Amino acid sequence: MLANGPLPTLPDKLPHVGTTIFTVMSALANQTGALNLSQGFPSFPADPALLALVTEAMAQHHNQYAPMPGVPDLREAIAGKIQADYEVDYHPADEITVTSGATEALFAAISTVVQATGTGGGPDEVIVFEPAYDSYVPAIELNGGVPVYVSLAPPHYAIDWDAVRAKITPRTRLIMVNTPHNPTGRVWTRDDVNQLAAIAEAHNLLIISDEVYEHIVFDQDTGAGRQHHSLMTHPGLRERTFVCGSFGKTFHVTGWKIGYCLAPKVLTAAFRKIHQFVTFSVPTPMQYALARYLQEPERYQTLSAFYEQKRNTFLDAIAGSPFRYIPTEGTFFQTLAYGHLTDEPDTELAIRLTHEIGVASIPLSVFYHDRRDYRMLRFCFAKDDAMLREAGSRLKAWANGLV
Ligand code: PMP
Ligand code: GLN
Repeated sequence: MLANGPLPTLPDKLPHVGTTIFTVMSALANQTGALNLSQGFPSFPADPALLALVTEAMAQHHNQYAPMPGVPDLREAIAGKIQADYEVDYHPADEITVTSGATEALFAAISTVVQATGTGGGPDEVIVFEPAYDSYVPAIELNGGVPVYVSLAPPHYAIDWDAVRAKITPRTRLIMVNTPHNPTGRVWTRDDVNQLAAIAEAHNLLIISDEVYEHIVFDQDTGAGRQHHSLMTHPGLRERTFVCGSFGKTFHVTGWKIGYCLAPKVLTAAFRKIHQFVTFSVPTPMQYALARYLQEPERYQTLSAFYEQKRNTFLDAIAGSPFRYIPTEGTFFQTLAYGHLTDEPDTELAIRLTHEIGVASIPLSVFYHDRRDYRMLRFCFAKDDAMLREAGSRLKAWANGLV
C-alpha cells in the first residue's frame, strides 16, 4: 500500500468570503425554530396552475436537454412580455438567453465582460453600489476584476452621481445596477437612469442590470410617480446593458432557479459562449410551463399589490414600536433601524433576536465590503400574514422593552 503523500494545497480564490449570510441565517432559523424572515423566499405555495403545467410538460416528454439558449417557446414568451411591459424589442433568437436563475445570468455576464488584464492595461474596474447583493463581488474577483465601491447611506440610499463620476478611471469597464434594490428596497428614478446613461456613454462602459424585483414596486398611485425604470427603456443603455431577470421572485418559485439575460446580439453571442459551459441548459419542463403561464400577464401584474399588502401587514404589526424606517419602495424586504435603541452590532443582534425572540433577519453590514454597520436589519415579508403579524408583534415587544 502506498503511503499517503501530502495533498496539494488549494488556492483561496475568494479570501474575503465565507458561507453566504442567507445560508447561515436560514440554518440558524431552522435549528432554533425561529420565524424565518431572513433569506428571501416565499413561505406560501406557488400557483397550482403553474405546477400543473410542469406535470403536463413532463407527461408530454419534455424531459431531455433544452436547447442551450433556452426553449424557443419560452424565449418568445419573454420577448412578448418585455414588449408588453416596456415596449422594447428583444429578438428571441439572438438576444434572449434562459439561465439557471439570475445568479447564473449575473455570473456569466460578469465573466463575459471582466478581464484581469483589460483594455485599460490592468485589471478591469467595476463600479459596485453598496450595500450590494452578495454574488456580484465574488464573480468580479474570480474573473480578475477589481470592485470599486460607491457607498450609499441610510435612510434614503440616494446616489451621488458626482461621486460616481469621481470613481471612473481609464480602467473602468462595467457598472453593476440593481433596481428595485436588495437589501434596501430603494427603486431607481428616471433621473438615476438618465445620469447612468450619460456616464456610460461618455466613458463607453458596459452595464449589468439586476432587475429580479421588477414586478414588486409599491405606492405607485400615491403621486410619487414610482415605477420600475428598466434600463432597457433607455435606448443608449439598451445597447450596452445585460438585463438579468428571474422567475423565482415573480412566480413564487425561487427553488426552480430559472432566470434570463437580455442583451444585444453581440453581447449575447459572447454571453452564450460562457453560459454554454457553466450550465449548458436549464430544466426543460419548467421552461415549457413558464412559456404557457406567461400568456396571462395579470399573473405578475398583480404582484406589486400582493406584496404591498404584505409590507403593510408587517408594518402595521410593528406600528407604535420605536424602530425607525421608511416603508420600503420595492422588493419584498423591509429594513428597520435600531441604532438609537442599542449599540449592538447588527450581526450580533440578528443572531440574538433569532435565539431570544424567534425572529430571524439579515444584518445589512454584510452587504458592505468594509462591514460598515448602520445598525440596520432586513426583514423578508414574502411570508404568510399570520407569520408577519407574529414576527412584528415579537419585534415590537422587544423594541418597546428598550425604551
Ligand atoms: N439578484 C438579487 C438582487 C437577488 O435578491 C437574488 C435572489 N434572491 C438574485 C439576484 C438571484 O436570483 P435567482 O434566485 O434567480 O438566482
Ligand atoms: N436573494 C435572496 C435574499 O436576498 C437569497 C438568495 C440566496 O440564498 N442565495 O435573501
